[in-house]
Amino acid sequence: MRGDIFAFIKPRKALTNSNSPRVYRTEGIVLKGYDFGEADRILTLYTPQLGKLRAIAKGVRRTKSRKAGHLDLFTRSNLLVARGRQLDIITQAETIESFAPMRIDLVRLSYAHYVAELVDAFTVEQMANYPVYATTVATLRRISTAEDPALSIRSFEVQLLGLMGYRPQLHRCLSCDTAIEPVSNRFSPKMGGVLCPLCASEDRAAGPISVQALKVLRNLQTNEAAILQLPELPLEVGQEVEARLQEYIEYRLEKGPRSVRFLDQLRTEGARP
Ligand SMILES: [Zn+2]
Repeated sequence: MRGDIFAFIKPRKALTNSNSPRVYRTEGIVLKGYDFGEADRILTLYTPQLGKLRAIAKGVRRTKSRKAGHLDLFTRSNLLVARGRQLDIITQAETIESFAPMRIDLVRLSYAHYVAELVDAFTVEQMANYPVYATTVATLRRISTAEDPALSIRSFEVQLLGLMGYRPQLHRCLSCDTAIEPVSNRFSPKMGGVLCPLCASEDRAAGPISVQALKVLRNLQTNEAAILQLPELPLEVGQEVEARLQEYIEYRLEKGPRSVRFLDQLRTEGARP
């Protein structure tokens, strides 16, 4: 029975063996946080070499705290962290990039929420994935300045899916392996890519995907830089690309991240001027 009683106390994983230094430096992006106690915040950060980690910022909500402002949501900061028994403790923080322009724009800020939420949802703690860090930083930069941040979000979704091992197959039919022709094909979230018209019955839940939307998805996968230079996509193509990616992400995550619905809400309320 002892095992059952103590099952909920998770031993701390990795990084904590006795050879580890007591203090370490890392940079990181604040993905989310919640207030704890009188003046502390518990943060979830994504870092280049340590992956996702949780740490406590003590006293950060006091106006005199030197860390205040350097640990705001989505800020990229240099951190000095001390190992703690339960949670590591952020002892110093200094902003590298605050992505300031997005902080005064509700739509851009909601995109940042979405990016942070996707990273959090797709990653596990203490498993490094440097490209995920790099693409997250690049995306936050783009959505704070790009004329059409939506395309940067689509690009981020495609890159992140690929980096997590869910790169959709967009060139050959997932069932018969023939090259996909420029006709109306099907997109199957369950199978992870495209089915040719002859194999549509392999997944009856797979919806149609247009030639244009498929082309955009392929370009986002292989030719990201070029497509991000487009001023914007035709509205209906953009909406279709978004819908197919959303189905795939939701299938992968089983339930949609909260800010997907938040973005929907923004759109339906016509928040964009
Ligand atoms: Zn086929």
